Amino acid sequence: MRSTSLHPVARLPEEWSASLAARGERSFTAKQVFHWIHRRGVLDPAAMTNLPARLREHLAAEGLGEVLTPERIHRSEDGTRKLLLRLRDGATIETVLLPAVSGPGSQAQLDADAAAGDDDEDDDEAGAAPRVRVTQCISTQVGCAMGCSFCASGVAGLKRHLGAEEIAGQVLLGRAMLEEGEELRNVVYMGMGEPLHNYEATARSLRLLTHPEGINLSTRRVTVSTSGLVPEIARLGADFGGQIALAISLHAADDATRSALMPINRKYPLDELLAALRAYPLPRRRRITIEYTLVAGQNDDPAEARRMAKLLRGLPVKINLIPMNPIEASSLGPPGQDRVAAFQEVLTQAGYSCFVRRRRGDDVSAACGQLVLLGARPKVRRAVG
Ligand code: SAH
Ligand code: SF4
Repeated sequence: MRSTSLHPVARLPEEWSASLAARGERSFTAKQVFHWIHRRGVLDPAAMTNLPARLREHLAAEGLGEVLTPERIHRSEDGTRKLLLRLRDGATIETVLLPAVSGPGSQAQLDADAAAGDDDEDDDEAGAAPRVRVTQCISTQVGCAMGCSFCASGVAGLKRHLGAEEIAGQVLLGRAMLEEGEELRNVVYMGMGEPLHNYEATARSLRLLTHPEGINLSTRRVTVSTSGLVPEIARLGADFGGQIALAISLHAADDATRSALMPINRKYPLDELLAALRAYPLPRRRRITIEYTLVAGQNDDPAEARRMAKLLRGLPVKINLIPMNPIEASSLGPPGQDRVAAFQEVLTQAGYSCFVRRRRGDDVSAACGQLVLLGARPKVRRAVG
């Protein structure tokens, strides 16, 4: 691995060992440095008080330091916080913290679990104080190259990939901003960008976030959402043994409709996508999350739901229906509630677990999957609470 060209925050413990051993440092310093960054969230070498001064100077000279700075925090009425973050080159990204407002079983918890692909029942230790579980939604690119017609990031186009330090850095910052009683429980790659289009950095960030010496998130509580990059789905499955939770943005069950909404479907049509899902080495009792943004007049016909029921037959899935959040750059919008309910009914009747995802935090345009920037502003703006 090219540890020398890697940003220090993106280095894994073994890479720290290699680079520090080459400098003649003692073997345990690698772990100390990794702990400072990923366990304690301290990125300023000057604050790493148990390291020798010359090492702190060396780390600073290598560029170790903050990778993103919070510029604004919007808090919505339901407790959702949207963080606008500035990167070192001036570009901005957003990340969202979604706390479950009350305990397990609440609607908010179900929403967060559905967003996170979290399947299990309450598995908190008996007697432990109830914690507020927080799901963080993170970005992987500035903008997105996939050009989906209903998505603000897609309309903006790709500005650049994020580095692994910027992807993991969002979680370091999100964790530091947790409030009393909150616990970071799930991370979903559902913010701006297509994670599998930035595969190397995404995979590295997954290793960082799940490393036992660092943030130590459980792999099954980390969900990568993709518009369907078939070769990279296979790669993710192989690289992580199927342990990373997978969410697929389906949005249509026939190629013509899907290609109209999502240009990527022309490259990887549904039969190839479905073959990749069937081949994903999913652990037993785990399911793939299918995301389906309902767009009025485009993909909301009950006949499409019936096609979808057929298409997904035999795959262990759960389905999240998301009524489209309107964006300024497009005249597309969500169907009415009756239409959403009818669509859901077809899938439920066909035996699928199918949820309609509430648009949490949409009073500050923070609904996960609708991160807004670069002029693609939401249509509805309400006062920030
Ligand atoms: N690029 C990845 C992950 C980011 S998008 C992907 O497409 O899966 C996360 C989710 O938000 C996707 O399912 C996407 O289709 C959805 N989404 C994007 N724009 C939306 C909008 N305007 N309304 C509702 N959902 C939207
Ligand atoms: Fe990119 Fe996902 Fe938006 Fe499509 S939905 S443009 S893949 S971020």
